[in-house]
Amino acid sequence: MFFVRFLRKGSGVISFGRWYGGLSPSERKLQIFAGLLVLVSIISLWIPWGDSSPREVVIEIDCSRSLSHYAKILQIPPKSLARELGKPLNVSKKKPLTELAISSKDLEEAIHHLRSHRSSSGKYFLYVAFSFWGFTLLRNSGKEGRALPGGIRTTSLVLSVFIVGFLTGKSPNPMESVVKVFKAFAGLYNDPLSKMGFFLFFGALAIIGNKIVCGWACPFGALQELIYRCSGKNRKVPFLLSNGMRVILFIGMLLFLFGIVGGQKGFVLYHGINPFNLFNFHLDSLSLKIAVVAYLLASLFLYRPFCSFICPFGLVSWGLEQCSLKKIIIDHKTCTACRACMNKCPNQAMEDRIKKAKLPCDCFSCGNCLGSCSFSSIRYGS
Ligand code: SF4
Ligand code: SF4
Repeated sequence: MFFVRFLRKGSGVISFGRWYGGLSPSERKLQIFAGLLVLVSIISLWIPWGDSSPREVVIEIDCSRSLSHYAKILQIPPKSLARELGKPLNVSKKKPLTELAISSKDLEEAIHHLRSHRSSSGKYFLYVAFSFWGFTLLRNSGKEGRALPGGIRTTSLVLSVFIVGFLTGKSPNPMESVVKVFKAFAGLYNDPLSKMGFFLFFGALAIIGNKIVCGWACPFGALQELIYRCSGKNRKVPFLLSNGMRVILFIGMLLFLFGIVGGQKGFVLYHGINPFNLFNFHLDSLSLKIAVVAYLLASLFLYRPFCSFICPFGLVSWGLEQCSLKKIIIDHKTCTACRACMNKCPNQAMEDRIKKAKLPCDCFSCGNCLGSCSFSSIRYGS
């Protein structure tokens, strides 16, 4: 009977409203176990089948060849290679590279970097698995005032850093999903539709569980949060300041990318400060090294500094939060604004929600606030 009931509830997965409702404690344990099982199964499926990228051919470096020649081998538009080499997008694609003052070292580095962006399609399953796992845990905590077990949260973050990060490399990741859409509009990709699909995938995950992909699956988000949790320090920065900087950088990125500022179409502002390169062990420039060290040091006392101040997906998913299907819900009728949950929240998200701010700070669905309310006024739900 127990399993029949569980399966019957499970069949409500299509209807998000019914899927988790009204389970007994033992059923919830089973549900957590099921979430874990799905996570492990998807990971094990990914290991043999995940990497669908074509075998990389050895490219012979010869600077008497043209940009078009190498772009064809790499299966990218010549403009994209020109941008990678720091040349204007309208540079001649037929001339020998020597005539364009491109050295073999420049070309090697550009090829290496472009190849590091190749995605393994199996990694998408990992994002789904980790998001689903977080979603299951959040739904099972908070009910009847129960907290999310800290050990489980920490373990999930560690797994995300190593499996979604170091084990599988930097691509795909939510940050580049946003940047690639705009790069496609600037003519830097042959397949703008696939870039749009790439973004929609991460956008959908952010909508389903209120930034659940950031909170539970993104490896750089997880790494920052782990450092923050270890340090035990917490300085909350006004959301207006952190979000203001994120917006300015995003607008700056668009202005440079489309050549409205700087006069060189195709320049990507985030390129030299993209921390996801860490997962490919490819911090090739000084700016990348400094940026990553700065993000990690800042994480000692700020909650997710890169996400809050810089990440374009952080900004876009903050907008998407407004239509999230599942999120932290406060029962304002029973809430006494005692600040217990606000003290648990690593940023301004809970305070803004209690105060019903019009533009509340991002909630990363970390689950810290669950179980903190003596009046059971907080839950994760619709
Ligand atoms: S906001 Fe943070 S967690 Fe989300 S995609 Fe960006 S780096 Fe990852
Ligand atoms: S503690 Fe703050 S960021 Fe974390 S889930 Fe609660 S409201 Fe969101």
